[in-house]
Order: sequence, then structure tokens, then C-alpha cells
Amino acid sequence: MESKNSCQLEPRSLTFLEKARMMSQIKIRIFELPPIGTNAYLIINEDLGKAALFDSPFGAKVEVDKQLERHDAELDGVWLTHGHWDHILDVHEFNKVGVPIFAHMEDEVLIKNPELMASFSIPGIEYHPGKVDGYLEDGQEIEIVGVKTRVVHTPGHSPGSISFIMEDLNWVISGDVIFAGSVGRTDFPGCSHEALMESIRKQFFPLDPQMIIYPGHGPKTTVGQERSLNPFLSEM
Ligand SMILES: [Zn+2]
Ligand SMILES: [Zn+2]
Repeated sequence: MESKNSCQLEPRSLTFLEKARMMSQIKIRIFELPPIGTNAYLIINEDLGKAALFDSPFGAKVEVDKQLERHDAELDGVWLTHGHWDHILDVHEFNKVGVPIFAHMEDEVLIKNPELMASFSIPGIEYHPGKVDGYLEDGQEIEIVGVKTRVVHTPGHSPGSISFIMEDLNWVISGDVIFAGSVGRTDFPGCSHEALMESIRKQFFPLDPQMIIYPGHGPKTTVGQERSLNPFLSEM
């Protein structure tokens, strides 16, 4: 127990202040992009003048460039939650200007050969092969634009699906693993509903119920809301 007349700040208060400071310097910009409403998230650290993009749907490059100019920031890299066509259509645009792309090794084949998913997409899409510059794996702790980030492997919707947990901001970028009121499709090649449910149980259930989930489609939600209201998780 802390003594009541202690003049020292408690470590807990410091953590709170640091978190508050972190929250105030980090901005998140959400782009819902065509052709099927795929979310891309741009995280900007205004103190550092750096930004990070999570997923790269069609039109992401144009939207990101506008924000970088507005915030006078530089793009450090693109982090991909998975390799499905709707999340990677603009990867080649970032390759062209030398922005590094990070993904899980098991989805690299989809990024290199996006036409593999053509029969599951919609007609008239132009595919360009993307290049991955660095691999991410389960349990990896990295710093992305000054934010401590834990990578967790969350297979099921695709073999190389990963989620990005930022505990200091109380955010998780989940890709197509979990949505507000739903979970990822598992009727594509290489998908497994059992693996998906196990990923959610193992990686999402232990998280703070107030943690915000930023999914690959649709509105943001929280871990607690999905644990109590998501019909796909009701029997877990
Ligand atoms: Zn997907
Ligand atoms: Zn998607």
C-alpha cells in the first residue's frame, strides 16, 4: 500500500500520464476503400513526423499522400494484416516509391500473385504483383512510429493473418479475423473455421475488454463488446 503522505508519484500514475501523452501525439486516420469497403488505417506520430499504414487497399496511396502532406509526416512502412486481394491492391504503388512492406511469410504467395484470388473477387480488377520486404511472426515485439506493437499470428481467415496489438493505446488492428458482430469468412482456399475460432480465443479473449478493435471491414468495436454480443463467439 502507498503511504498517504508520500510525495512520490505512484508508478501507476506515471504510466497513465505517459499513456495520455502517447494518445495525444498519435492520430489514426481510417480510409474505407473500394471496391468492397476495405479499411486501411494510417497511424501518425505527430511528434516524430512519422506515419505507418495498416493494409493497402485500392486507392490507399492517394489517401495516404494527402494525409502525409497535411501532417508533414513521412511514411515508415506498410504493415499488412493478410494477403487477400482487397487488402493489397495498392502494395505495388508503395513498392514503386521504396516504402517497405511487412507481412507474415505464409501470405506472401498471395501478395506476390494477387490473381490467385481472382475467382473470389469481383470482375474488372487489375492485379499487380506486390513485393514483401520484411516478415512478421507471432509474438514479435516491434516499435511502429514510436508505438510498442505486439504481432500475433491469427490464422484461419488466411494462413498468414496477423493482428497488431498496441497495448499503450489500447488498440488492436485485427484485419479480417473479427468484426463488429461477425468473424472472418473461411470459405477461401487455405482457410479454416476451427483455426479462426482458436485464434480469437487464444489471442483476443485475454485482451482488455475495453481495448478497441479496428477491423478490416466495418466499424470499430471493443474486445468486451464482441465477447458478450458477437453471435459467433457466444459458445466459446
Ligand atoms: Zn480477407
Ligand atoms: Zn477483407
